[in-house]
Amino acid sequence: AAEEGFDVEEVEGAIDAAGHGPLPVLAVVGRPNVGKSTLVNRIIGRREAVVEDKPGVTRDRVTYEAEWAGRRFKVVDTGGWEQDVLGIDASVAAQAEYAIEAADAVVFVVDAKVGATDTDEAVVRLLRKAGKPVVLCANKVDGPSGEADASYLWSLGLGEPHPVSALHGRGTGDMLDAVLEALPEAPEQAFGGVVGGPRRIALIGRPNVGKSSLLNKVAGEERVVVNELAGTTRDPVDELIELGGVTWKFVDTAGIRKRVHLQQGADYYASLRTAAAVEKAEVAVILIDASESISVQDQRIVTMAVDAGRAVVLAFNKWDTLDEERRYYLEREIETELGQVAWAPRVNVSARTGRHMEKLVPAIETALAGWETRVPTGRLNAFLGELVAAHPHPVRGGKQPRILFGTQAGTKPPRFVLFASGFIEAGYRRFIERRLREEFGFEGTPIHMSVRVRE
Ligand code: GDP
Ligand code: GDP
Repeated sequence: AAEEGFDVEEVEGAIDAAGHGPLPVLAVVGRPNVGKSTLVNRIIGRREAVVEDKPGVTRDRVTYEAEWAGRRFKVVDTGGWEQDVLGIDASVAAQAEYAIEAADAVVFVVDAKVGATDTDEAVVRLLRKAGKPVVLCANKVDGPSGEADASYLWSLGLGEPHPVSALHGRGTGDMLDAVLEALPEAPEQAFGGVVGGPRRIALIGRPNVGKSSLLNKVAGEERVVVNELAGTTRDPVDELIELGGVTWKFVDTAGIRKRVHLQQGADYYASLRTAAAVEKAEVAVILIDASESISVQDQRIVTMAVDAGRAVVLAFNKWDTLDEERRYYLEREIETELGQVAWAPRVNVSARTGRHMEKLVPAIETALAGWETRVPTGRLNAFLGELVAAHPHPVRGGKQPRILFGTQAGTKPPRFVLFASGFIEAGYRRFIERRLREEFGFEGTPIHMSVRVRE
């Protein structure tokens, strides 16, 4: 490294930064209008469209990356869902429950000006049951005069209320310090908290693609319910299912089996559920209805799994209904609409007839293997050296940026750090990723690649 002009500390720092495993997950919960979205915006330090959304407008993004005091984590925002037919308590509880389940720690937001309401108390009961670390945020304390309001919230029995003004930023630093203390260094929930337990699969896809039918088909009578959150608004969530002689954990299946009929916010609710399932899983089996055109919603779900860094399998369902013409157009659509996951193993199945069910497990195993692949540094650099010699980066402004060396900083998914003598263009990065895949496989997994440029 030194002879290439990078100092050792810089290289090690870059590798550390890139090599993190899955990030811990923080859920922000509370009843409507307490300021959850405002707080999430504060935490992620950006002004995304979160708060500007009008009620009823679908928000499909629920997970954001954040950093505080040098530590990175994910934030799940539950602010996007309106009250529905279940009534306010049940609605808030149901949405909070999904988020809590997928989280390593929770920020519970209460409007300090209003004080604790019955709905807040209902969420407190959920939090107690879940047993996750909780940081109590007494929001809307815009000035010193509001501090007294905050202290009333000791009565919730969740420990110290942190007085915060999400709107103006007051107190958020202290609260985030408490959050970092509550968050585990290594996330437990993201990987189920069990090392060496059954591999975790999220079966996801838009409504009516056949998730429930597929689950019934593969599970038969063998399903075992493994996780019961007693007395809550939902059914059990994770199920152990034996497939191909191996036991797998299908996460968050309750939402699949039991249709929740919602009048408002159903899309957001579905997004939140999908995001939570993806967070808990190692591999996402994305089910697509092959009989219909691939939709924007399908693409969003794909993006969610890829952004979360999960292994991906694409399953095209309802194959029994396809005629030759549809099959032709489907192939074209896959090329144009699903290019971002051209690397994902694919199975064409029918949950109705059972067609190709036996191909599901090999595809899942392939994707997990790609997700865990580690390329030794020596091999990687031999490969990079040849690649750069044979296909140099285009000359820019009289200079030719060069990849000097690289290393794989982590797996699940594979993360690479490349060190370069100048700015490497996006097209060339994509070229390198393509060649990496050709050389080393990586089937079924996103690849992260960061480039450090010598100063
Ligand atoms: P959510 O439904 O819990 O996500 O709440 P929002 O973030 O959408 O906020 C609801 C309303 O409370 C908005 O009008 C915000 O501007 C306002 N709000 C949020 N945080 C604060 C705060 O710290 N102080 C004051 N005064 N208003 C706030
Ligand atoms: P979910 O909303 O994704 O859980 O979808 P469901 O499993 O409820 O299925 C939606 C509809 O598609 C139901 O009417 C199913 O009978 C039908 N369906 C599911 N899989 C298949 C399949 O492989 N072939 C056909 N022809 N219909 C299917």
